[in-house]
Amino acid sequence: MQRPAGSAAISATPDLPALTTDAIAAAVRALEPYMVRTLSDFVAAPSPSGQEQPAVAFMEGALRELGLESERIYLRSEALKDLPLFSPPCCPDGGRYNLLATHRPAARGGRSVLFNGHLDVVPTGPESMWRQSPYAPFVEDGWLFGRGAGDMKAGIVCTLAAFKALKDLGVQPAGAVGFNSVLEEENTGNGALATVAALRSAVGAGKLASFDTVVIPEPFGETMMSAQMGVFWMFVDLTGRPAHAAYMSSGVNPVEAAIEVIADLRRLEAEWNLPQNRPAAYRDHAHPINFNIGQIQGGEWNSSVPCTCTLGVRIGFFPSMDVNDAKARVADCVRATLARLASNLQLDIRYEGFHAPGCEFDLEGDGMQALAAAHRKATGEPVRREASTATTDARHFRMMLETPVTCYGPQARNIHGIDESVSIESMVRVATTLAQFMHDWCGIEPAAA
Ligand SMILES: [Zn+2]
Repeated sequence: MQRPAGSAAISATPDLPALTTDAIAAAVRALEPYMVRTLSDFVAAPSPSGQEQPAVAFMEGALRELGLESERIYLRSEALKDLPLFSPPCCPDGGRYNLLATHRPAARGGRSVLFNGHLDVVPTGPESMWRQSPYAPFVEDGWLFGRGAGDMKAGIVCTLAAFKALKDLGVQPAGAVGFNSVLEEENTGNGALATVAALRSAVGAGKLASFDTVVIPEPFGETMMSAQMGVFWMFVDLTGRPAHAAYMSSGVNPVEAAIEVIADLRRLEAEWNLPQNRPAAYRDHAHPINFNIGQIQGGEWNSSVPCTCTLGVRIGFFPSMDVNDAKARVADCVRATLARLASNLQLDIRYEGFHAPGCEFDLEGDGMQALAAAHRKATGEPVRREASTATTDARHFRMMLETPVTCYGPQARNIHGIDESVSIESMVRVATTLAQFMHDWCGIEPAAA
């Protein structure tokens, strides 16, 4: 539902003057304590994928503080399982739900935007490796530390601060602004898929307005995402033949076979990374395709040849490759390793988690150009574009709704690692850009009392 281009802010009240970027920046700057406090409380609500409820409850409260009531969009795998972007679940639905809170303007004249962000965070690893508990956030030298601080609770807080800053200036967006908080971005994407499916059926039923554009404030260092990688998860179960270590050669060792499987996967990864196999968007990356061996479990006892070994692998592939083709090629690689070993190992390949095609994003349309222009006003610099080597929930909006979408969010360090942190200055810049973007894209009207 793209409306005609307009470079100036749409003002629902003709005599309401446009705000200056300086005024917007000052209003956001005044909210720095709000951002630090909100992000700290948000990080302190632990929300590993599948157990997001503390962060959901926190978000419902934070939105209510801004005068926004949330609808619940329940995750129902049964209703999603036939959609091409559905990923095999890693955990039960368990009554979990996403949130969608929508600001509705009085005049309803302006263009709309949906801010989407994921509530879930990845595992912390051993707490002893962290300087402080990963869920006890602290600030040092302008960085806020904690699991999820960067990926991506900070970006969500930027959207709240941007909206609040306009309110503090006595105005509000003259178009609908949605705040969508989703589950399971880090392992399946089924939370965003549930939201997109709900939006699609609601639009079909004439109940909800669609959104003209979507911005996902993932921690991409204030760049706009131009493409994202395809990703799938795979589990390789190897069963061998146990034996006493004294008679080791009478057994078949699945851990040693797993080492061979990994070596062959590395060779396939190197082949996919060859310059001639890359699409243009990834030509200049050092190593865009990553096959990550994320988990390995096997063996029981130092003096026994192990019974089993399981590898948990994350495979990246270029947007030009179909997800089912990518799965087939990697499975063929694993089967070829086992055939070469000729050792009567039993092999089972399971798929749980990501089943995510890659995609490219059109950044030339009005909405994306308005975001780029807002970045330039807020920072004085042209925005850089980045082809991501990860997957994000942007795929659902692009592929299911054909809505213009990108990721644009603050600078973070050590995401998925130890001592994850986010730059507070970068949060202020991103919130300023997003407030400027709402001002320019949606237009402004007097704030509701
Ligand atoms: Zn993320």
